[in-house]
Amino acid sequence: MNITNDIVTEYIQKFYVPIDENFSALRQNAEKCKVPIILRETESFLTFLLGLLKPKNVLEIGTAIGYSAMVFASFGANVITIEKDQDMVKTAINNINTMGFSDKIKVLNGDGEVAIKENLDENDMFDLIFIDAAKSHYQRFLDAAIPFCSKNSIIVSDNVLLKAATASDQFDPKGRFKTNIRKMRQYLEYISDHPKLDTIILSCGDGLALSRYK
Ligand code: SAM
Repeated sequence: MNITNDIVTEYIQKFYVPIDENFSALRQNAEKCKVPIILRETESFLTFLLGLLKPKNVLEIGTAIGYSAMVFASFGANVITIEKDQDMVKTAINNINTMGFSDKIKVLNGDGEVAIKENLDENDMFDLIFIDAAKSHYQRFLDAAIPFCSKNSIIVSDNVLLKAATASDQFDPKGRFKTNIRKMRQYLEYISDHPKLDTIILSCGDGLALSRYK
């Protein structure tokens, strides 16, 4: 289910403008094949943010086919993106090469936390961090990424409302997503109470948490 009224969601989506025809084709193909990439409203929000922040360095956890990584790179950012699934990594690298972003994006294969700890050092600082991988592991990813933030770095966590189920169990009647829901609630408490973060939660797309490193 959408986290806002379906009529409102559909109405807002009419205002979505793709970055160019290549992004449009990749999105259409992903949507057709049910590959989970950022929702249209999330993309619109991120491109607005990218225009404002003009980040030089972006860290992403959860590459999938490379769509959002290329959104960041299309705004001039250098991107390090981490993906656990090896087949996804191959597809992402293929898409990134085809769309001409190979000089801007480095794809790391592995778990988000482990890859950060094994591959990044004090020379890697990020203006923007995008967390969009396993929903019950956000805190692990965040804790691993925080040492690579500086004052005013922005962390965007996607899908934090889990199709409204984070807000109420009534949206998960069979309890199938119980663990993800419990962990996401804990995560939202964690980032809201974190002494180094200033956080807001937005009902955009599937829910976004925006945190500023103080
Ligand atoms: N950000 C991508 C986009 O919008 O184009 C979509 C990412 S998709 C929602 C989530 C991805 O995270 C999947 O491809 C999944 O294989 C990957 N993933 C799941 N668990 C992970 C982990 N522990 N570390 C890194 N990636 C993981």
